[in-house]
Amino acid sequence: VETMNIFKQFQSGLKKTSNFLSTNIVDALKSKKIDQETLDEIETILLSSDIGLEVTNHLIQKIQSTKNFKSENANSVLKLLANELELILQPREKPLLTSRDYQPTILIFIGVNGSGKTTTIGKLINIIPNDKKILVGACDTFRAAAVDQLKKWTKNQKVDFHQGSLEQDPASVAYSVCQKAQKEQYDYVIIDTAGRLSNNTNLLNQLVKIKSVISKKINADNIKTILVLDGTNGSNMVNQVETFGQSMNVSGLIITKIDGTAKGGALISVAKKFEFPIHFVGLGEKAEDLFEFNAKKFSHSMLGIEE
Ligand code: GDP
Repeated sequence: VETMNIFKQFQSGLKKTSNFLSTNIVDALKSKKIDQETLDEIETILLSSDIGLEVTNHLIQKIQSTKNFKSENANSVLKLLANELELILQPREKPLLTSRDYQPTILIFIGVNGSGKTTTIGKLINIIPNDKKILVGACDTFRAAAVDQLKKWTKNQKVDFHQGSLEQDPASVAYSVCQKAQKEQYDYVIIDTAGRLSNNTNLLNQLVKIKSVISKKINADNIKTILVLDGTNGSNMVNQVETFGQSMNVSGLIITKIDGTAKGGALISVAKKFEFPIHFVGLGEKAEDLFEFNAKKFSHSMLGIEE
């Protein structure tokens, strides 16, 4: 029953993308054999959903090489596409939290402002089992509003919160958070960071410093750096992974706001281009709208296929 419901969540979260893709693809296949014109039409549709050129070409080839599709077979074309996308997405599945996580495990959240960091942290608190002790640290010491918003999430969900003073060095806040976590035996420490423009080199320096300070106290294996991306941002996501991925040694991605776009295919271009795991996707604004990334559910929901 649980799995069923989660499939429904993916279907409703991906509704905008699946409406766009399935309606247009079914339309393109109406009353025609699959000829070059049809393939060109499908190619345009796939590209418009931000799946990317490489994946689009691959999908078109797959359709082409399956000779015996008839016009009435639109559904089998959608299924074929979903299965191919699933193969691309499969290697990106990797849970963020495991039963082997050390105490404390540090989760550093990075990403540009507005990508959904704060909201995602709030949702993640909701997912972590109740018997785990959680400490949230606000290292964006230059934006009081951001700190307040994060504090509200922690208050609502009754987990501990640590903030520094206004404009305190974010790395020193991170240090005290880790110290507190070790002393008071927290299971998970979630650290929020500032997120001004990704091409701001000072930001990158600051993030590197935060991480190196944490590494002085915590074994590197127990630190996970999560890059949060706004799923409505299309090709900008690729730029952000390029900026942060290497220099911050990112462990995985969370892609938010999938529910807000018809271009959910952008997640696929990221999955194709980079080997970073995709831990979670955000499918709405509420505390329960964060879902562990699942290749099958994502790919099939994207094409409007019921399971
Ligand atoms: P931050 O600046 O990175 O901390 O971003 P916020 O967490 O403040 O999020 C920016 C906006 O995006 C807020 O209005 C959130 O409610 C919204 N948001 C975050 N995640 C999602 C999501 O998965 N779906 C939708 N529809 N909105 C989201």
